[in-house]
Amino acid sequence: MKPNTNYRNLKESYLFYNIAQKTAAYQLAHPGAHLLRMGIGDVSRPLCPAVVEALRRAAEDQGRDETFHGYMPECGDPPLREAIAAHYQRSGVKLDSEEVFASSGASDELGDILDLFQRGQNTVILEPAYPAYVDANLMAGNRIISVAAGQENGFLPMPSEDLEADLIYLCSPNNPTGAAFSRDQLKVWVDFANRRGAVILFDAAYEAFIQEEGIPRSIFEIEGARTCAIEICSLSKTAGFTGTRFGYTVIPKELEREGMNLRQMWIRNRTTKTNGVSFLLQRGAAAVFTPEGQRQIRDNLRVYRENARILMAALDKTGTWYTGGKNAPYIWMRCPAGLDSWRFFDLLLEETQIIGTPGEGFGACGKNYFRFSTFSTPEDTAEAANRLTRLLEQLERGQVPLAPPD
Ligand code: PLP
Repeated sequence: MKPNTNYRNLKESYLFYNIAQKTAAYQLAHPGAHLLRMGIGDVSRPLCPAVVEALRRAAEDQGRDETFHGYMPECGDPPLREAIAAHYQRSGVKLDSEEVFASSGASDELGDILDLFQRGQNTVILEPAYPAYVDANLMAGNRIISVAAGQENGFLPMPSEDLEADLIYLCSPNNPTGAAFSRDQLKVWVDFANRRGAVILFDAAYEAFIQEEGIPRSIFEIEGARTCAIEICSLSKTAGFTGTRFGYTVIPKELEREGMNLRQMWIRNRTTKTNGVSFLLQRGAAAVFTPEGQRQIRDNLRVYRENARILMAALDKTGTWYTGGKNAPYIWMRCPAGLDSWRFFDLLLEETQIIGTPGEGFGACGKNYFRFSTFSTPEDTAEAANRLTRLLEQLERGQVPLAPPD
């Protein structure tokens, strides 16, 4: 028996380990310090009452003869699939509920979906990127083609005609940059994928954060996407399901390659490899799509949006370049004073006790950028914005001694 030697191609990720080490060392040296954790990608608002009530009722149902449920349908409970399809209808996207698959979260699906494709193909990843894309594809034995984004294209790169893409991961609004593709930009990617016969895996985990007109919430708002795209979405950030777990995946009926229908293949895959998402979680998820649930999650999203507004105001005030924040819970700023992202991390921790995420952790082109998340509490966010403004102003005036690079 040979192991999967593709695992040898994985690089160690030191990002969160290094952050944890540096933070622990600081805390040990400064036991009373109140650290402002602006790096987290996890939510701080709890599940909304409608979801909690649905979970409670579902648990009670499971304890009674008359209402007990055994295995759920592998692809999802039909009423829930219909509710999700109706949710898409609000953005003008018409789906058949049988194109919607319940999942245990986007991370699971982003890797599992690779079962649909022959191994050893070219996977295009726009960097900086959510690290799971690269690792899942390396484990599967695919070749990674990185397309570097930068300030010049607002961290929203477009395809060149010679890009040898088989699979293309697009994440919009993006983690870590917070940048979001416009309709016209997504149309270019969709047309490119259709011309090449490539498949787009569209990660819509942050669709609920979109505020601006003209930014699609779904790839299926784009004409032509039904023949080249799969969409993967999650309730993690939308409704606080990071620890509860629920997501959904959309595969259109028209999506075929070499005469094989990808939706049919996914049904075969799910019915083989899963016994469905738990009854409790599907009931909890269904509550999110009720009018009450939608109203309640919007209250939570408003908190994160207000956090974003406060952080953006600090960066605007100090003339700092950034993207994101408007349609995403992430703000991606250029590090000040020519610092690279780890030196800025150290400085920020030392001078302000703010913890953010160095951009380099998401790909080499993030070396001079830094990610703030807006998932912290309003109190900590307001304090972080004040301390950050002060530090950036002092740096501008040359009042902060900078350690030389290592
Ligand atoms: N996709 C992106 C871009 C993310 O940032 C995350 C989580 O941070 C996920 C997917 C994972 O979502 P889930 O919690 O549903 O696995």
